[in-house]
Amino acid sequence: MAYTRRDLDLWGRLMGRAYDVAGVRKGDIVQNMYGYGLFTGGLGFHYGARAIGATVVPTSTGNTKRQLMFLKDLRSSVVACTPSYMVYLCEASRAEGYDPKKDFALRIGLFGAEPWSEEARKRIEEVFGLRAHDIFGMSELYGPGVGIECEQRNGLHVWADEFLVETINPDTGEVLDPGREGELVFTMLSREAMPLLRYRTRDLSRVFEEVCACGRHHPRIQRIKGRSDDMLIIGGVNVFPSQVEHVLMNISGLGDQYQIIVSRTDLDRLAVKVETSRERMNDEKLLKQIQGDLFAVLGINANVELLELGTLPRSEVGKAHRVIDLRAKE
Ligand SMILES: [Zn+2]
Repeated sequence: MAYTRRDLDLWGRLMGRAYDVAGVRKGDIVQNMYGYGLFTGGLGFHYGARAIGATVVPTSTGNTKRQLMFLKDLRSSVVACTPSYMVYLCEASRAEGYDPKKDFALRIGLFGAEPWSEEARKRIEEVFGLRAHDIFGMSELYGPGVGIECEQRNGLHVWADEFLVETINPDTGEVLDPGREGELVFTMLSREAMPLLRYRTRDLSRVFEEVCACGRHHPRIQRIKGRSDDMLIIGGVNVFPSQVEHVLMNISGLGDQYQIIVSRTDLDRLAVKVETSRERMNDEKLLKQIQGDLFAVLGINANVELLELGTLPRSEVGKAHRVIDLRAKE
């Protein structure tokens, strides 16, 4: 992603506004558990916290024990991470001997980068005693901070001074009236380094233009329902099945049939089943190569299983059913 200095300043201010709408103030301590690096989550939440004068604890992703230790020792009052990681921390904090409400000082959580349910929100709020806000963004549109839930939590306000948001019918491109479900399309009004006009997000939602009960006039979008393409969001990371296929097709000794299985037991998990000859089914080197290549392309670990040729179900009616998403839908 490309940004000019002005783009970065504006992004920081928009993100700072998102924090402000969620109730975060100067003096808050924000533990930023989003990844720093090429993933825009880390830097976006960092710049925003700086813009409002909050303190940032840049823990980035992973190392759960250290995250919990910092939550306790530094009295972090705000947390930002993927909702699935926060749900994971519900269990993990107790397993590590913490009493979340007593040991931590969290009062606000900003969770986004993947769809999540009201059940997950309730669970997080009950365990940590914080108020959870959904936040929306994507790297193409600066990063996080395009929209956020206000205190009404009845849709996410999108900043109308920078983003023109529309919904279209994903099949015909027809622009839909406000309130109708369709694919979100964004235009950035002042982005310099990477302007995008009517950018199709593939995210499905609705736009509401009525003034919110909070008094803000910025339009709201409904929480993201799903996608109009086959992209999977696994632990906040975007994965296209075609990326997995590309990796597998470039490794010799593998058959054409494969299956991608996404599941969730607290955290999202990716499993890939692929066929090979009977002799190579227990080939550790081959297994390691597939795992390594998948990690290099996707940036996440996959549990790879080698199966004998002819084991996976074949499709008789055209498109093979290669992706199985076992995660519960709201
Ligand atoms: Zn509002």
